[in-house]
Amino acid sequence: MNNYLKISIISAAILLLISCGTQSGLSGFNLFPVSQDQQLGLQVNNQILNDKSQYPLLDEVKYKPVYDYVRNITNKLLNTGKVTYKDDFAWEVRIIDDAQTQNAFCTPGGYIYVYTGLIKYLDSEDQLAGVMGHEIAHAALRHSTRQMTKSYGVQTLLELATGGSSGGTLSQLTQNVVGLSFSRGHETEADAHSVIYLCETDYNAAGAAGFFEKITAAGGSSGQPTFLSTHPNPENRVAKIKAKAQELGCTNGKTYAERYNKIKTMIP
Ligand SMILES: [Zn+2]
Repeated sequence: MNNYLKISIISAAILLLISCGTQSGLSGFNLFPVSQDQQLGLQVNNQILNDKSQYPLLDEVKYKPVYDYVRNITNKLLNTGKVTYKDDFAWEVRIIDDAQTQNAFCTPGGYIYVYTGLIKYLDSEDQLAGVMGHEIAHAALRHSTRQMTKSYGVQTLLELATGGSSGGTLSQLTQNVVGLSFSRGHETEADAHSVIYLCETDYNAAGAAGFFEKITAAGGSSGQPTFLSTHPNPENRVAKIKAKAQELGCTNGKTYAERYNKIKTMIP
């Protein structure tokens, strides 16, 4: 760990001890500086790009229309003015060529990955935008580093930062990031922000609800998308998303099902 980072973490820890209880309304303290999200994201992204067997990428040249399509959705959300760290995080989008996996994830620092299995699973563009909004929110709200703060505890992180005897290393932390399961509180927060982002666009703001309704309808463990392995299903998720859209007075309701289905036919 470099010295700047050590100092940043120690400073953050001291600040935390001083200002305990005066943090924002987001769930969970964050002991890490924002630069840590960026650095972690860069590391994890490099690992993913170097692991073609686990993360086979869809060819960017051959499937340019599909990439353009998914990146346009992402940019529409990023340009709403509602995404924190919009200008600080990478916000790069890549598609993983794996039709069996109905998932998407976003590393800290904004490296977004969408599986072809998810694109095939969904019915309309507002649903995909809703899931993308949810993933963007996890990074923008810095859920991974919040979760790490909670999981590893202040003491461990301080030992890590000062080179103490905890035995943990930063690269070990990195390995846990992609497989990190979010808390139900963070899921609810990401769902709400998905609505906040989509509300500023022409999409049906409750787009994510469509995805979660499909999951619920699928029932049983065999039919459930892989999304739930890292994104646990909070209580009343669909109702909460719809209520949020109503609360914000979101009136646009485009689903763009037709052009979505055209894109689906292009995917292997
Ligand atoms: Zn999630």
